[in-house]
Amino acid sequence: MKALPYYGEYEAFIDSVTKLVYQELIPNVARWEVERFFPNDVFKLLGEQGYLGRLISEEYGGVGGDYKLAGAWCESFGEIASVGLTVGVNMHSLVISHALEKFGTETAKQHWLPQAVKGEAIGAYAFTEPGAGSDLASIRTTATKHGSRWKINGSKTFITNGARADFILVLTKTDPSAGYKGFTTFVVDTKSKGFKVSKTLHKLGWHASDTAELSFEDVEVDESCVLGKVGEGWGQAASNLNWERLMLTLTSLAGARMCLQASTRYASERKAFGRTIGEFGDISEYLQEMERRIALGEALAHRALDELCSSKDCRPLVAAAKRMVCDDAVWIADKAIQIHGGYGYTTEFLPERWWRDLRLMPIGGGTSEIMTNILRKDLQKP
Ligand SMILES: Cc1cc2nc3c(=O)[nH]c(=O)nc-3n(C[C@H](O)[C@H](O)[C@H](O)COP(=O)(O)OP(=O)(O)OC[C@H]3O[C@@H](n4cnc5c(N)ncnc54)[C@H](O)[C@@H]3O)c2cc1C
Repeated sequence: MKALPYYGEYEAFIDSVTKLVYQELIPNVARWEVERFFPNDVFKLLGEQGYLGRLISEEYGGVGGDYKLAGAWCESFGEIASVGLTVGVNMHSLVISHALEKFGTETAKQHWLPQAVKGEAIGAYAFTEPGAGSDLASIRTTATKHGSRWKINGSKTFITNGARADFILVLTKTDPSAGYKGFTTFVVDTKSKGFKVSKTLHKLGWHASDTAELSFEDVEVDESCVLGKVGEGWGQAASNLNWERLMLTLTSLAGARMCLQASTRYASERKAFGRTIGEFGDISEYLQEMERRIALGEALAHRALDELCSSKDCRPLVAAAKRMVCDDAVWIADKAIQIHGGYGYTTEFLPERWWRDLRLMPIGGGTSEIMTNILRKDLQKP
């Protein structure tokens, strides 16, 4: 990718990510999509090259970068036409490891973060349950205290990296009568007795990524596994979700750009009725509209990123950016298929995979409708 003006100071970084992506990963992606799993070696490779610790402090092996550097990563790494892979890596390195550093005990951080940064231990984040997705406050997984230990019981579903994770941040209810103060997050070692991957899920897209249903039956953890203080889980989830949503938004922008690039090229090469198809009014309008939506998406997403970097209350702006960019990315991928005609519907060209993969973005991390609800509530504020 050409360095985006917004990330001017990270041009060299973007160049090095792009090199890695095109030389080491893209040549293998089609195979991993068919095999329905990308190998853990991808995490190790990224770890060896220092890419998994962008938001992690040096004392745990990271580089102590900021959200803007992480944004530059999302928009360059996101060029890989395997959104399940890119988000699987980003959830681990940018969301889960980062949350563990922000809220975890020193014991948990010393134990997991150096391995996570090297790609030797992989993380997952488990909020969603079979009966509670958008309505997260209805989760039923509990953690109860027995002496100095906690026992976790319940099930989680749709968990990215769930089948391969070594550690999982699990949102539980510790006091169902305490409302939003009754939630606590624990870091759980997947080798713990009572933890089970109950099922891996087959999906429309994200084929290279594992998505799992997890079960917890009297899984015991000690005090060092509590993130922050007991009762702080809801607030932590809300603050982590702002960044997770922005990560998904920036990754969608990269996918949308790749669809526009492929469509522009195809429209200038494919001929019909003695002309290139780009000369037809409809096709040219589709391309212009794709470009317009990407430009608007960049403006909004980068403004939200600026707000996050300056620690402002970015929740409404992040919701606006996620809603617009993720919906538009699906529209753009759909038009990319249209521009490619019959070939766009085949697996020989990438638009069909982009469409299948980007289709998850208005659902994961909070649906488009939930983003609209956040905006509606914000507008009602005095
Ligand atoms: C491939 C994949 C990976 C995922 N990875 C993770 C992960 O790593 N960790 C994790 O915890 N979760 C993960 N998820 C779960 C994802 O975040 C949820 O699917 C999402 O939050 C929606 O929840 P739900 O599926 O229960 O849908 P529901 O909440 O049942 O929603 C169904 C529909 O109703 C609408 N709706 C619900 N409430 C309202 C409302 N108040 N107003 C208007 N409309 C509403 C929704 O917008 C949606 O259209 C993943 C999901 C998938 C498919």
